[in-house]
Amino acid sequence: MDKKDLRSGNKQRKRDHGSLIMAYVITSECIKCSLCYDICPASAIIEGDEQFIITESCIDCGKCVEVCPIDAIRVVKNK
Ligand code: SF4
Ligand code: SF4
Repeated sequence: MDKKDLRSGNKQRKRDHGSLIMAYVITSECIKCSLCYDICPASAIIEGDEQFIITESCIDCGKCVEVCPIDAIRVVKNK
């Protein structure tokens, strides 16, 4: 995945976890199956024109990553 994918329609959410900054990001590979939307306990995923998008309401539970059938959700960690 390149940086273009990370910028593709996602408002990247960043949160401080100790020394790490983490963000869950849905890439442009998304096929809009809505499985992540259905399972998200924080209602943090919204439907965009081209793909689903993770918002700042995300609580970092990771459930969306587990259900995505094509691994379109990435966890980005930056120091
Ligand atoms: S990590 Fe959890 S809270 Fe965040 S978007 Fe995915 S399912 Fe929702
Ligand atoms: S589960 Fe994956 S493919 Fe399905 S809508 Fe979510 S990000 Fe897109």
